[in-house]
Amino acid sequence: MKKLVILGAGLAGTMMLNKLRRELDDDEWNLTIVEKDHDHYYQPGFIFIPFGIYQPEDVVKPKKDFFPDNVDVIWDEVAEVDGDRNTVVLSNGRELGYDVLIIATGTEPKPEETPGLDGDLWYKDIFDFYTFEGSVKLARKLESWEGGRLVINLAESIIKCPVAPLEFAFLADAYFTEKGMRDKVDIRYVTPMAGAFTKPVATKYLTALLERKGITVVPDFYLERVDEDRKELVSYDERVEPFDLLVSIPVNMGAEFVEESDMGDDDDLNFIPTDKYTLQSRDFKNIFVIGDATNVPTSKAGSVAHFMADVLTENVLAFTQDKPLPARFDGHANCFIETGFGKAALIDFNYDTEPLPGKYPVPVIGPMSLLKETRLNHAGKMGFRWLYWHMLLTGRDLPVSSEMSMTGKVTMSPSAGPKNPSRKDRDASQATPADPASTASETREAEKVGA
Ligand SMILES: Cc1cc2nc3c(=O)[nH]c(=O)nc-3n(C[C@H](O)[C@H](O)[C@H](O)COP(=O)(O)OP(=O)(O)OC[C@H]3O[C@@H](n4cnc5c(N)ncnc54)[C@H](O)[C@@H]3O)c2cc1C
Repeated sequence: MKKLVILGAGLAGTMMLNKLRRELDDDEWNLTIVEKDHDHYYQPGFIFIPFGIYQPEDVVKPKKDFFPDNVDVIWDEVAEVDGDRNTVVLSNGRELGYDVLIIATGTEPKPEETPGLDGDLWYKDIFDFYTFEGSVKLARKLESWEGGRLVINLAESIIKCPVAPLEFAFLADAYFTEKGMRDKVDIRYVTPMAGAFTKPVATKYLTALLERKGITVVPDFYLERVDEDRKELVSYDERVEPFDLLVSIPVNMGAEFVEESDMGDDDDLNFIPTDKYTLQSRDFKNIFVIGDATNVPTSKAGSVAHFMADVLTENVLAFTQDKPLPARFDGHANCFIETGFGKAALIDFNYDTEPLPGKYPVPVIGPMSLLKETRLNHAGKMGFRWLYWHMLLTGRDLPVSSEMSMTGKVTMSPSAGPKNPSRKDRDASQATPADPASTASETREAEKVGA
C-alpha cells in the first residue's frame, strides 16, 4: 500500500483529503491526515464576532465531521519533516513514512514576534481578531468601550486575508456610528504598505473609501515595538502612533516545524518555497504545498486555497501515475470586502492581473460588482459561510473557475505598484540604508503580497 500524508486539516488540507479520497483507489493508496486541533474555525467569520454580527458558535464545528471514510486521522503536532528520508516526525516522537506529502499547515499570528505587543496590555487594551479567542475577547471589550483613539495596525505586510484589516476598519466605522458614538472614536489605519492595499487601482479605491468614512490612513509605518507604558506604537524610523485601543494584526508565520526542518524561504517567516504554477515543493519532488503555507506571490486566502485545490488534485493524481504535472495555478484570488452598513466590495485578480473594476462573473449583468460597494456583494459575503461548510470543505466543485477570467473586467492603463520591503530587508536596511541588494528583494516582496 502506498502512503499519501496530508499535514494540517484546515481548509486546504480538508479539501484535499476529500478530493483525493474520491479519486485515489483505496486498495492502492492509504490516506493519512495529521492535525493538532480538534475544532475547525470558519476564519472569515472572525471579522464579524467583535461587532456582534456573528456569535462565537457560528464559526466553529468539529474537524472530524468533514473527514471522509477510509482515511487515517492522527491528532498530533508535526515536529519535523525529513524530506530526504520521506519521514514526518510527530511531537510524541512517532515517525510516519510517506510516498507523497501535502503540506497544508497554514499560517498563524505571532504577537510574540513584536516587542511589547503581547505584554501586560494584551487582551486589556491590545487585541487581535485573527484568532477565535482574540475576536471573542475584542467583542467583550467593544461592548463597554467608551471611545478614544482606535488604532488598527498591520505589523507586517504578508498576512492572510490582506483585506480583513480593512474590513475591520469599515465595520468599526459602522458599529460606532450605529451606537451613536462615532464622534468619540478616532479610527486610524496604520500600515507598512504605501496605502490601503498593494496594487494601484485597488489601493486608490480603498484608500479613498477609508478617507470618505473618516478613517485616517498612516502608510509606510514599519512597526518595531509597542511602548506599553506610553501606549504607543513605535516604528523603525522612530515615528510614534499613540492608541487607547490597539487592534493588531500581528506578524503571520508558517508552522514552527518548517523552521525545525530547515524548509522555509529567505524571509524567516516559515513559508515554504513552492513552484507557483505546479504547487510542488521547490526542494522535494514528492512534496506539494497548498494554501497559506506556501510562499507563492498571491494573497493568502481561502479562495486561493480553493482554486489551488483544483490544480493540486490534478497534479497529485498525475504524480501518482508517474506522469508530468499537467495543471497550472495562475494565482487566482477573489475576496469580498465588507464595507459596513450592509454593503461589500469585491476584488478578483491573479499573478498577472491586479484587481480591476467591472462585473463578476458575467459582463454587464454581474450580478456582483468589482471594486464597488453593493448590497449584492454583501449578500454574497454572508452567503459564503454556508458554501464553506457544505461545499468547500467537503471538496465539492463550485461553479467558479479556478482560473481567473478577464470577462467583465474593465482594463486600466498599467502603472507601477507600491513596494513593500520584507521584515528581513527592513532590518538589513536599518544597518545599511543604501544597500542596493535590497531593491531586488523589495520588488520580489511587493510581488509576493500579490493582491
Ligand atoms: C480574520 C480573518 C478573515 C478572513 N477572511 C477571509 C475571506 O473573507 N475570504 C477568504 O478567502 N479568506 C479569508 N481568510 C483567510 C482564510 O481563512 C485562510 O486563508 C484559509 O483558512 C487558509 O487555509 P489553510 O488550509 O492554508 O490554513 P488553515 O485553514 O489555517 O489550516 C491550517 C491547519 O494546519 C494545522 N496545523 C498548523 N501547524 C500544525 C502542526 N505543526 N501540526 C499539525 N497541524 C498543524 C492548524 O491547526 C490548521 O488546522 C480570513 C482569515 C482571517 C484570520
